Amino acid sequence: MKKNKKMEEFMRNKVNKNDKIYIRDLVVFANHGVMKEEQVLGQKFLVSCVLHTDLSRAGDTDNLKYSVNYANVCEFITKWMKENTYQLLEACASHLCNEILMEFRSIDRVEIELKKPWAPIGLPLDTVSVSMERAWHIAYIALGSNIGDSRALFCEAIDKIESRKDCDIIKISDYITTKPYGPVKQDDFLNGAIMIRTILSPKKLLDLLNNIEAEAGRERVVHWGPRTLDLDILLYDDLMMSTDDLTIPHIDMHNRDFVLKPLAQIAPYELHPVYKKTIIELLEDLNI
Ligand code: ADP
Ligand code: MG
Repeated sequence: MKKNKKMEEFMRNKVNKNDKIYIRDLVVFANHGVMKEEQVLGQKFLVSCVLHTDLSRAGDTDNLKYSVNYANVCEFITKWMKENTYQLLEACASHLCNEILMEFRSIDRVEIELKKPWAPIGLPLDTVSVSMERAWHIAYIALGSNIGDSRALFCEAIDKIESRKDCDIIKISDYITTKPYGPVKQDDFLNGAIMIRTILSPKKLLDLLNNIEAEAGRERVVHWGPRTLDLDILLYDDLMMSTDDLTIPHIDMHNRDFVLKPLAQIAPYELHPVYKKTIIELLEDLNI
């Protein structure tokens, strides 16, 4: 039930992407700053934000429950700004963006401008400000396991992701049994894929998945060897990146039918940003 509601919310956010609610120059007296006096005495801040959220249902029904209540957002910002202290406007703005996204979950993306009109720099200045934008991202994750109770391990991993405020599970594929891939002789695998939305960066998402793997007793002994739980990031929006410990899209996903089959079930038309093909097309290319 909870999942259906999330899915509905997610789909709604995808339709009218240009709807916004503006809050301009909310005045908050708070204690952020590098200098000690700023943290002790406090000063005036002006907070502006743009809340990106699909307003079609609120527009159709004239019912506040289908919109974001800007009075509640203003109250939330005021309370949060007063209860926390950061040295940098950058840190304050970045945490505030994430807090807003996690609290008001029908907001898809938030832009914030944090102004400090009384910045104590000893020179006449109108305001100094920092602005940033943060959003929910869509990621697809492959699940694999061939040691232990694989189904229960998947279930636990999904529960751990779902229990976090910074992640939502949106879709779960069926699980399929597959023959092992690569040169190592080992038991059959159970494979699946999930679609999540998250405000974690790709690196933080990888850290989370590595922790969940470790908690499931995963030991990295043989490359491509047997494992209790393998969680790979397949896609993260249409991002393309490659660092020493993270490549997105997953570097080998297009060659693996045990990845593409479950993924095609939950994301048939998602486009692989490197090969510019849908997941269904990639699967057809494997000719299986
Ligand atoms: P594999 O999943 O290919 O069988 P491992 O699970 O042992 O191999 O992963 C080895 C390393 O691959 C991880 O520690 C991680 O740093 C790196 N890696 C690179 N790109 C990704 C990705 N997209 N998702 C997950 N891990 C990745
Ligand atoms: Mg892996």
